[in-house]
Amino acid sequence: MRFADVVGNSHVKEILRRTADRGRVPHAWMFSGPDGVGKRTMALAFLSYLVCRERRDGDACGECRPCRQVADGVFADLQTLAPEKGYIKLDPLRDSMPRLYYPPLTGPWKCLLVDDAHTMTPEAANAALKTLEEPPSMVMFVLVTPSPDLLPRTVVSRCFQVPFGPVPPDDVLSFLASRGRTGPEAVAVAAMSRGSPGRALQFLDNPILKERHEFMSAFLDLASSDVDQHLKFADGVGSSKEETADLMLLVESLSRDVLRASSGMPDDTLSNRDLAAQIRTFADTVGADRAAEMAAAWLDWDATRRFVPNVRAAMDRMLMAMPRNRN
Ligand SMILES: [Zn+2]
Repeated sequence: MRFADVVGNSHVKEILRRTADRGRVPHAWMFSGPDGVGKRTMALAFLSYLVCRERRDGDACGECRPCRQVADGVFADLQTLAPEKGYIKLDPLRDSMPRLYYPPLTGPWKCLLVDDAHTMTPEAANAALKTLEEPPSMVMFVLVTPSPDLLPRTVVSRCFQVPFGPVPPDDVLSFLASRGRTGPEAVAVAAMSRGSPGRALQFLDNPILKERHEFMSAFLDLASSDVDQHLKFADGVGSSKEETADLMLLVESLSRDVLRASSGMPDDTLSNRDLAAQIRTFADTVGADRAAEMAAAWLDWDATRRFVPNVRAAMDRMLMAMPRNRN
């Protein structure tokens, strides 16, 4: 695992590289930022850099024994904690502590990586805090979390904060291409991923994507359909909560494209370029004001979906914004 394997967030690579080169590595780090932007991969790349025997060009070599062991997930000086059934409880945390007090087997660093650190129970967080206050020498803690606010302040304040940002769509697209995933689906997904290469890759294998073209075409046809057809469409959206949420991602992507088209942006700025002609027709039919109203309906839904995931209401509002056609 090398820095070169991590997409985006080059400012983070720079910080990590510099602290390692200066030999002043903080004992506790907090990598925070959206899911799927490469926080965990970055932690592994950083560890590789610290333990690599032949660093070159500001990166780990990726070939020496420690480098290969980190990449294969068998590096003896790396321990990982992750939630089980939604929580990191006290026992697994306490069990991992004694090993930290032995010197590293490979050297010069040992690492305890806590994935989804915000899921630590208060007891676990308290135990972690005690160790963070007096860390064993040559041990590095990396707490990875999308929600640092959910951790006790005392824990957060002990850590060197590294915020991660979303990865630009073009970089996500290159990442997907490097995994052999190209074509209109990859373009659409890169834009839909909200800057998360991990989520993009996952979404490419989501069965909902097979329905993308058909679903979007049906949605775009609604601009020239009557109210009866609008209601039928809304009734048919999603058979399960997960499926509905995924379909709403398609609707988001489409409403952004409609906004782009209605404000005169060229086709190559669209996420669903394979539907460009239909998107333009739709944008022309509904007009800029209605397009904005539809996007607002989606945004309102998105803001409250954690609490009130009322997709039907959001869909109805979007459909209400469409022109009233009569047959
Ligand atoms: Zn190496």
